[in-house]
Amino acid sequence: MKVAVFSSKGYDRQFLQAANKEHGHELVFFEPRLTPDTAVLAAGFRAVCAFINDQLDEKTLRAIASQGTKLIAMRSAGFNNVNLGVAAELGMTVVRVPAYSPYAVAEHAVGLVLMLNRKLYRAYNRVRDDNFALDGLLGFDIHGCTVGVVGTGKIGQCFAQIMNGFGCNLLGYDVYQNPDCLKMGMKYVEFLELLAQADIVSLHCPLLPSTHYMINPDSLQHLKKGAMLINTSRGALVDTRAVIEAIKSGKVGYFGADVYEEEADIFFEDLSDTIIQDDTFQLLQSFPNVVITAHQGFFTRNAIENIAETTIANITDFAQGRVCPNQVISQ
Ligand code: NAD
Repeated sequence: MKVAVFSSKGYDRQFLQAANKEHGHELVFFEPRLTPDTAVLAAGFRAVCAFINDQLDEKTLRAIASQGTKLIAMRSAGFNNVNLGVAAELGMTVVRVPAYSPYAVAEHAVGLVLMLNRKLYRAYNRVRDDNFALDGLLGFDIHGCTVGVVGTGKIGQCFAQIMNGFGCNLLGYDVYQNPDCLKMGMKYVEFLELLAQADIVSLHCPLLPSTHYMINPDSLQHLKKGAMLINTSRGALVDTRAVIEAIKSGKVGYFGADVYEEEADIFFEDLSDTIIQDDTFQLLQSFPNVVITAHQGFFTRNAIENIAETTIANITDFAQGRVCPNQVISQ
């Protein structure tokens, strides 16, 4: 089947081509994001393969459907950027990669915790500058801390397991209780109670209307003063401006994020020679207790291999008329 692969980088090409060897699809790689303006590139392709910052809104979906596209193959777990209602109305099938390596994202979240606590980003630069002073690098023992896991699905569970290994007390908030987390000794509490009790809060739930801006001026009032907030899930779980105010007041003691609500215009590109116009982002990254990475939580060899293999298998299922277990059904 002819597949237009959008937002593609060298690594996508490498791993998708390797996974495609025995499937024989015709993969054509496009670097631009899929938007209403670039939808024309998908003309004549029955399948479009997209990523997290592609814009699969009503306008784009109608454009690509009118050009013959029938399948949207997301090479991600999240699908909040796809208008599922419109896709269903247009008779398009949407598939995704529900699990490729929860360890990759959970380990990255733990990396942010360690980096912020022990200020490894500052320590690294100091030593390279022959500055061996320790002032300003004071951390705290993670052992014995209370860690709040918001969303205790696959990634949240892995994160909880690692933090359990550190000797933390685990609190969880989710619409369902995960039996494996309960076995670890996790105590489920209401969201605001979790914010009030946890020293470290890590977000691992999907972006839905019910979770949009769950970190906002009101919920931040409940946060334990000086707590660490980690977001490796989706940027819009967090009202960034509210977090900036909470950092300035000392309510948020540390903020680590692998995602940003307006990341689509900046992440995954080298903008080092450009003047970034997003003042909120620039202000956020100016604070000494903030670490931002550019949506790299998923970026391990194991995860990328799994994403490529599942994506190609999903496309083959569709091409051969089989029911794909990874189809996303509009609610
Ligand atoms: P999952 O479906 O296994 O777990 C999500 C959990 O969130 C579920 O237990 C679900 O019940 C819970 N949830 C749903 N609605 C909720 C609500 N209103 N309040 C609290 N909890 C709620 O998903 P996962 O594989 O663990 O992935 C979690 C998220 O991580 C994804 O949705 C995606 O946004 C993000 N993610 C980020 C990266 C990255 O590279 N940074 C990579 C993959 C996934």
